[in-house]
Amino acid sequence: MKNNLKDINNRITLALEKAGRKDDVSLVAVTKTLPVERIVEALDLGITDIGENKVQELTDKMAILGDRPRYHMIGHLQSNKVKYIVDNVHLIHSLDRISLANEIDKRGKASNRILDTLIQVNISQEDSKFGMMEDEVIPFIEKVLKMENINIKGLMTIAPFTEDESVLRNTFSGLYDLSERVKAQKYKELSMDILSMGMTNDFEIAIEEGSNMIRVGTGIFGKRNY
Ligand SMILES: *Cc1c(COP(=O)(O)O)cnc(C)c1O
Repeated sequence: MKNNLKDINNRITLALEKAGRKDDVSLVAVTKTLPVERIVEALDLGITDIGENKVQELTDKMAILGDRPRYHMIGHLQSNKVKYIVDNVHLIHSLDRISLANEIDKRGKASNRILDTLIQVNISQEDSKFGMMEDEVIPFIEKVLKMENINIKGLMTIAPFTEDESVLRNTFSGLYDLSERVKAQKYKELSMDILSMGMTNDFEIAIEEGSNMIRVGTGIFGKRNY
C-alpha cells in the first residue's frame, strides 16, 4: 500500500506538471468493501479522506473510526438514508435530484449543520448511470441556493468505463466547461471550488482536464473482492 500511494502521488504531481498547473489535487481513498484495518493502515500512511458508496457501510465505518478520516459519500444516495450520515459526512458527491436536496436541507436543519455537496452530472449521457443532465444543472443550482442548510461546492462525474482516451477527455473537459459556465453566472454564495473526477484508470487524464479531487480505490488498495 505504501508503494502504491507513493506511485499515485508521483503520478498526480506529473499530471499537474504536464497540465502546467500550480494548484493541488485532493485524494479521496475509496475504501468500499475494505475492512477497517486496511483503512487504518491507509490513515497511518497519511490518507485523510475516505469515500464509500453505500450508507450502511459508511455508517459502520464511522462508528469505528470516529472523526479520524473525513467521510465522502460517493455513491447513489436514497433520500430516506440521509439521516444516517448527516452528522458525520464531510462531502456528498452524489447530489442528483431536487428531492434529495430537500431532504439534505431538512436533515441539516434538524442537526444544525450546513451540508457540503457536489452535483453529480451525467456528462457522457449514458442512461445506465445516475447524475443529472448538463442543462438541468443551472436551474437546479438556483433552487438549491434558496435552501439554508445545503451548500453546493462543485461538480462530480463518473466517466464511462472505456479505454478510449478521447471519450474520457471529452467527459472530463465537459464537466470542467460546465463548471466554468456556472461560475460565469456569478451567483453570490456559490464557490464551485471542487471538480471531483478521475478514478484509478483515468485520474491522470482527469487532472489534465482540470480535476482537483480524485477518487481512487484499486490504485491504492489493489483489486476489490466483491
Ligand atoms: C469505486 C468507485 C471509485 C474508485 O474506483 P477505482 O477504480 O477502484 O479507483 C471512484 N468513484 C466512485 C463513485 C466509485 O464507486
